[in-house]
Amino acid sequence: MTAAKRPTILISNDDGVHAPGLTALAEALEAVGAVYVVAPDRERSAVGHALTLHRPLRVDRLGTRRFAVNGTPSDCVNLGILGMLPKRPDVVVAGVNAGSNLGDDVTYSGTVSAAMEGSLLGLPAMAVSLIAPTRAADYGPAARAAARLTRLLLRDRDHGPSLLNVNVPRGRPRGLKVTRLGRRVYSEKVIERRDPRGDVYYWLGAGPAAWEAGEDTEFAAVHVGYVSVTPLGLDLTSYEGMRMLKGWETEFGRAGEGHHGHARRR
Ligand code: MN
Repeated sequence: MTAAKRPTILISNDDGVHAPGLTALAEALEAVGAVYVVAPDRERSAVGHALTLHRPLRVDRLGTRRFAVNGTPSDCVNLGILGMLPKRPDVVVAGVNAGSNLGDDVTYSGTVSAAMEGSLLGLPAMAVSLIAPTRAADYGPAARAAARLTRLLLRDRDHGPSLLNVNVPRGRPRGLKVTRLGRRVYSEKVIERRDPRGDVYYWLGAGPAAWEAGEDTEFAAVHVGYVSVTPLGLDLTSYEGMRMLKGWETEFGRAGEGHHGHARRR
């Protein structure tokens, strides 16, 4: 591959610019293209798609193509695509996140939101997460899987899905499964404790996660050792819902009258 044809890759995450998963991803993607890192200066997991609009964003240059931002993952991708990089990147890769992003998690995840931001700004994009309980995990296999998938995403950019959520099991993956999002089973309760002054506080998300085990879900795939790739779409419209609600358009005007009429009769 000639230097001119080398793709420009923007990477970010939500675990912060110093996270080992990000370092492993940057190293693996150097084999695919010119890597630029624009990432939050600290842990920003579960901030979702938040943008910083009411305070200035500051950028620290940590290396030639490595920047820390005092903002969210979506801020970083915005800055990277719309201003900071010398050229518009060809692809956005977010991760490798410390911990899975399965099913409903994608609505909270800063990692997935970073990829969504890239997609909204017109680029192929991918979020990569490692099923690992701790940060001290080996991110090498997940980073290498991300590199292979980035090549495929770039190759098929004109006729394939442009936003992917990827989860990688621990250890050496057995292969790849194309999956759908699973559903979290909300069995855990919030944890209630008392602080040293006797006041009650709460802790969210501390319980063990449970998932419906549908055969084609990412949960099922990673559970048996496969990399899961779920193509995502950003159109949240329920087309089935549109069909179901069609009758409301005519009923809406009549509903109020019917109610009053009923009251008058009594
Ligand atoms: Mn994270």
